[in-house]
Amino acid sequence: MSEAEVQEKKLNEDTELRIVVNEGEAIVELVDGRAEIFGSELVKNKKYLFQKGSRIAIFTYEGATVDVVGSGVHSYTSDETPMVIYLNTHAALEQIRKVAECDPSHRGPRIMLVGPTDVGKSTVCRILCNYSVRMGRSPILVDLDVGQGEISVPGTMGAIFINKMADIMEGFDCSRPLVFNFGATTPSENLPLYDLLVKELAEVINQRCAVNRDSNIGGIIINTCGWVHGDGYQCLVSAAEAFEVESVVVIDHERLYNDLKRDLPSFVKILHQPKSGGTETRSKEMRAAMRSERIHRYFYGTASSRLNPYTFEVNFSDVLLAKIGAEQLPESCLPFGAKIDDHNTKVVGVKPSSSLIHCLLAISPSTSISQNVLKETVLGFVVVNQVNDEAQTLTILSPQQELPSKVLIVTSIKFVDDRTIE
Ligand code: ADP
Repeated sequence: MSEAEVQEKKLNEDTELRIVVNEGEAIVELVDGRAEIFGSELVKNKKYLFQKGSRIAIFTYEGATVDVVGSGVHSYTSDETPMVIYLNTHAALEQIRKVAECDPSHRGPRIMLVGPTDVGKSTVCRILCNYSVRMGRSPILVDLDVGQGEISVPGTMGAIFINKMADIMEGFDCSRPLVFNFGATTPSENLPLYDLLVKELAEVINQRCAVNRDSNIGGIIINTCGWVHGDGYQCLVSAAEAFEVESVVVIDHERLYNDLKRDLPSFVKILHQPKSGGTETRSKEMRAAMRSERIHRYFYGTASSRLNPYTFEVNFSDVLLAKIGAEQLPESCLPFGAKIDDHNTKVVGVKPSSSLIHCLLAISPSTSISQNVLKETVLGFVVVNQVNDEAQTLTILSPQQELPSKVLIVTSIKFVDDRTIE
């Protein structure tokens, strides 16, 4: 298909057109009927641009005609989609919201999506949030996936308060997120810290729900990591408890469904739902590339909304560097009352050194290095592009012209800023 060639696709009711952009770009336009992408309605005769690597489904309940343009685009129509199941889930959540609306002693739904990687958890969260916004609700999207989270950079968990549909191309507005820094891309790197931050996030969200009626009624939709075995499974159980969820949707994993039925309290409704045949299984390399792309997007924006980050030098003496997790002491050396796991959540100072090169640093609102650093939501992120030991300076890539705070937390995530490669 040449670049200018338009492919007209007629979709019957309850079918979806799946599109994979292998090369170049795809332009998609709804020319007749009604259709949506992951719950966001398409505007008729508006052209939507999708970059290489995009993988989307244009679904219609009523039938639609869509034009697709792009030389490197693979597309096919499917009438086997779980969208009606997801719509029913939304209807069940709406029932809970209606009760909360009439009776302030009740709260809105709290639902958690679980399952292995690449089964469509994030996509279903997006669909459920979009459907609730279309009903005039303001749900809270919580993302506990520190590997492929959608709210901030990798290595974080957080929440956004949603009151408008996700932009078809850019996703939800994440300009004012609530972000906790975990500092690594899998909970296994520091389980006590992961657990602690999940509890902290749940606490902050509970406080918000206590004072904001719209959020309380809109409820909480929680996305989770795809690590579902061993300690990963325990993380899911702890998260369900921390957020006091009343329903869990298990996508595509029968054993996980059975295990959760056994281990979660009986008032928690556990549903087993199929994954969409359109979901893509990503290799380890693809995941790493997506993480890097996510950080790139944090600093440089997207094709349709570009950002211009700053690069500047800071003196070693102008920043306070910290990391979470200290060396483990033998039990006999621990202070009275300290637990063996405490070293994992200890905030310790770090001396600037060349090992910081390409490190992602979280900016803490704290004014000094203390245990408070751990539980505070972060102000943003910077990357160390260069370390000059002689001049005692760090060259930093930052979204802002200057650092909003001097306390920076070292993460184990690296990002090579392509602007620094000659
Ligand atoms: P998970 O959160 O479980 O890892 P995602 O929701 O990120 O999975 O989905 C994996 C990939 O599959 C994403 O690129 C997403 O855009 C794509 N995807 C999800 N549902 C569909 C669908 N119905 N058709 C085409 N692609 C889809």
